[in-house]
Amino acid sequence: MPRPTQAFIDLAALTHNLSIVRKHAPQSRIMAILKANAYGHGLLHSANALKNADGFGLLELDAAICLRDAGYQHPILLLEGFFSTAELAILEQYRLSAVIHHAEQVAMLSASKHYNIDLFLKINTGMNRLGLAPQQFSQAIGTLIEKQYYKNITLMTHFASADEPDEEKNVLRQLQYFEAITKEYRHYPSSLANSAAIIRYPVTHADWVRPGIMLYGASPFTDKTAAELDLQPVMTLSSRIIATQDLGIGDRVGYHGLFQTAEPMRIGIVACGYADGYPRHAPTNTPVLINNQRSRLLGRVSMDMLAVDLTGIENAGLNSPVTLWGKGLGVDEVAQSAGTTSYELLCALSPRVEKTASL
Ligand SMILES: *Cc1c(COP(=O)(O)O)cnc(C)c1O
Repeated sequence: MPRPTQAFIDLAALTHNLSIVRKHAPQSRIMAILKANAYGHGLLHSANALKNADGFGLLELDAAICLRDAGYQHPILLLEGFFSTAELAILEQYRLSAVIHHAEQVAMLSASKHYNIDLFLKINTGMNRLGLAPQQFSQAIGTLIEKQYYKNITLMTHFASADEPDEEKNVLRQLQYFEAITKEYRHYPSSLANSAAIIRYPVTHADWVRPGIMLYGASPFTDKTAAELDLQPVMTLSSRIIATQDLGIGDRVGYHGLFQTAEPMRIGIVACGYADGYPRHAPTNTPVLINNQRSRLLGRVSMDMLAVDLTGIENAGLNSPVTLWGKGLGVDEVAQSAGTTSYELLCALSPRVEKTASL
């Protein structure tokens, strides 16, 4: 029997979550975001569960080619575009769309002679990460149109804080800025909304929405749970107890004895650690499920193992099943306890964890 650390991928939940996106944005086309190996869930089975989406977005060229080779005919958008002139022949060959976020990319296009590519012009409306400034945008789109360096043009931006409850003003400011900059080009389709904006700001839906995290069943918000948003968890990370220890008063657990007992207690050692993607910074009291009953992490997470409290857990012992996150224990709750987000936990799932996908 192999090591019991497993990630169960519920593809029906993925398909369900796509239907929730449709419900929120019925007029828009959906570009399902599949970057980072589908947020750690596995590219090809995720794409299959999301085949009713209207397009796929990611940024790894090899993954994009893999989708085409698997037969998907959807638009596939490279979210960081291309990095060298040499890639453009490949983009054209595989009919991959590209974000243009920098004037240098227009120069690369010009040098490449591969012009039969769908382009998404990304405008920096205040996040100050990727995107053309207004002046650069006018210049870039002017050149592209004049020289016919494109197959289709879509206009695009990204919100910095659609997930934050008190940031409505900044979201609407970015939206208004986008509309002002693109005023002369309203005949082109546009794309603005990530998961948070899809749910909270219908006014941003436009022609293409770009959901990521909500497809995978986690909440983009800290003040609303996934269940409240009718999203179902897709990944369940599970393992088993591979050892137990009966401790006396004052015994110390794990590296540096970070947890110390106040009374005699029984603990379990779970075959899951930070090399599997469990966050090393998760502190004592981070929730876990043992035999489907809530318990807690104890002490420092090791590379391959972690310790849990067996106090009051019925029939807990060797081989008891443990859920680290997923069905019955939201990844958001674990992330919050560890001082991070579900995004980071999901996409940090280690390749050594066996993934089992089922419908
Ligand atoms: C990752 C990404 C998204 C998806 O964001 P979520 O918050 O996961 O919905 C959308 N657009 C772009 C450009 C992205 O890089």
